[in-house]
Amino acid sequence: MTTDDVEKYYKGVFDNAGVGILAINLEDRIIEANQALLIMLGYDKADLYKRSFLDITHPDDRETSCRNMTALMAGEISSYRFEKRYLRNDGSILWGDVSTTGILGENGKPIQAIAVIADITKLKESEQALRDREEHYRGVFDNAGVGIDVLDRDGKIMQVNKALLEMLGYQEQELFQLTFTEITHPDDREMSNRSLETLMSGEKSSYRFEKRYLRKDGSVLWVDLSTTCIRGQDNRPAKVVAVIADISKRKQAEEELRHYSERLEEMVEQRTAELSESENRFRDLVESMSDLVWELDQNGIFKYFSPRMKDLLGYEPEDALGATFPRFVSRKEEERLSGTVKSIFSSRKPFRGIETKHIHKDGHNVFLETSGVPIVNSKGEFIGYRGVCRDITERKQAEEALRQRTKDLERSNKDLEQFAYVAAHDLREPLVAIGAYLKVLERLTRNTLADAGNNCLSKAINLVLRMDAMLQGLLAYSRLTLTPVSYDVTDCNTCLADALSNLGPSIRKSEAIITNDTLPTVKISGPQLVLIFQNLIGNAIKYRESEPLRIHIGCISTESEYEFSVSDNGIGIEPPYLDRIFNMFERVKDLSGPSGTGIGLSTCKKIVERYGGRIWVDSTVGKGSTFHFTLPKE
Ligand code: ADP
Repeated sequence: MTTDDVEKYYKGVFDNAGVGILAINLEDRIIEANQALLIMLGYDKADLYKRSFLDITHPDDRETSCRNMTALMAGEISSYRFEKRYLRNDGSILWGDVSTTGILGENGKPIQAIAVIADITKLKESEQALRDREEHYRGVFDNAGVGIDVLDRDGKIMQVNKALLEMLGYQEQELFQLTFTEITHPDDREMSNRSLETLMSGEKSSYRFEKRYLRKDGSVLWVDLSTTCIRGQDNRPAKVVAVIADISKRKQAEEELRHYSERLEEMVEQRTAELSESENRFRDLVESMSDLVWELDQNGIFKYFSPRMKDLLGYEPEDALGATFPRFVSRKEEERLSGTVKSIFSSRKPFRGIETKHIHKDGHNVFLETSGVPIVNSKGEFIGYRGVCRDITERKQAEEALRQRTKDLERSNKDLEQFAYVAAHDLREPLVAIGAYLKVLERLTRNTLADAGNNCLSKAINLVLRMDAMLQGLLAYSRLTLTPVSYDVTDCNTCLADALSNLGPSIRKSEAIITNDTLPTVKISGPQLVLIFQNLIGNAIKYRESEPLRIHIGCISTESEYEFSVSDNGIGIEPPYLDRIFNMFERVKDLSGPSGTGIGLSTCKKIVERYGGRIWVDSTVGKGSTFHFTLPKE
């Protein structure tokens, strides 16, 4: 090949090379650039040839470029290679892999430099992107809120982030000396090792589970662990990345929750046992009660009957359910009760003592007394009634018998009173006649009969008079019971004055000193009150002692009644007679005492009791007596 041919050949290489080629003279000026370089930098030839190589070099790389070029041109080095940045015509950066070689002149010294520039901008950009990405991930790794570590195939810790160091309390270097097994809680080691093996064998690519680590201070750290296997160049599992979240708080909360639920369960169990015990207790109680226990729902339908139903009404409790109150009664009884039942149910209040008449399955009557209370649920809503029925059949029968007996007694009493009145009235007629005949006989025989005969006659006359007095008393008494009770507004002071006036002669004779309180006005028959005062004051005069007689008529007012008293300083009454003297014909047996009929006090008692009052006496023998009687205010 001739020199021209060689030159042509290199010119061809220069022009058509895929890399940029640049020739620079000793003054750093660009003296030649190939087409590829012009395209790479975006200059046209003329423009580029006006510039030094430093003009197209990035300011940050000028110093290095200059140093290299100086050394090359000084012949200190024959070539150099480095990566540098060029400035394109549009100001953008071109990364070039630059190999510069010095061209020696005839004197053997460099006369120019040839730089071969490969465009590595894309490579540089992707390197940068890689670096950025790596930095990004490192940032994430370092600053993650969760712990992250990287383990090798043997479980040795290769990398660890700040969060995990803080979580475990180790320094980075300390952790690098340890395997993950050593920082795992003994109870979780087997499971952790197994999962690492599974990852490393390629059986699985990731794992997630909860486990316990041991901190440097020995305390336990609960974590949620997500492990992922990273494959190496050979596509075999090489590393494991673990992302570790501290779940101690959650675990603690779970533990507390578990503790509380266990406690709650215990309480529920205990309460259930208590409830079932109390239910059993109540069931035993209900089933052994002699009363029938029942429950109604809010619609008034029976929902429960205790077993006592069978004994009381002859029905099985289940057969009696599903109907309303009252159960097993006649239509008439049902009608009688319907209003009461309705008003109780709408009042939703407790009720007591409703008496009902039922028909036993075998047909006989059963009387029940029902009481109940409303039932409300936990929200306070009315859900029915609960109560008991008591068998009052015997009481009812006894009451009925008593009513009948009272009726009979009243009738026979009335008959007796009628009889007593008629007898006393009719007996008086012949008695009065006998008395008159005896008086005539006494007058006719006064001078002819011996003393003994006169004595007998006088005794007979006295007995007739006494019997007449008794019959009159009896008549007065009977008249009293046969007349209706009248409630006249009566001034007691007037009645007392009338009684004293009627007793005038005996008062004067006895020289009695009579005092009285101011008396009230009551509703009573005036003449009957006069009779009471007259009997009591008359008795005080009759049964007096030898000393001067003092009688006081008093009255005290209580909330509901007036209590009258007639007191004397007379002979008094012996205790056994205190009650008996109020009975008809009862007298203190002392034949030497004053005569009487024994009717006065029973008459007083009859009157007082007809007006709803009471009568009694306090007495001390030899000191006197106080007779009390009460009359209601209304
Ligand atoms: P009578 O006075 O006609 O016997 P009463 O029924 O009035 O009948 O009295 C019954 C009895 O009570 C009297 O017989 C008398 O023994 C006794 N008695 C009544 N009042 C007094 C009195 N003030 N002091 C003592 N005894 C009395």
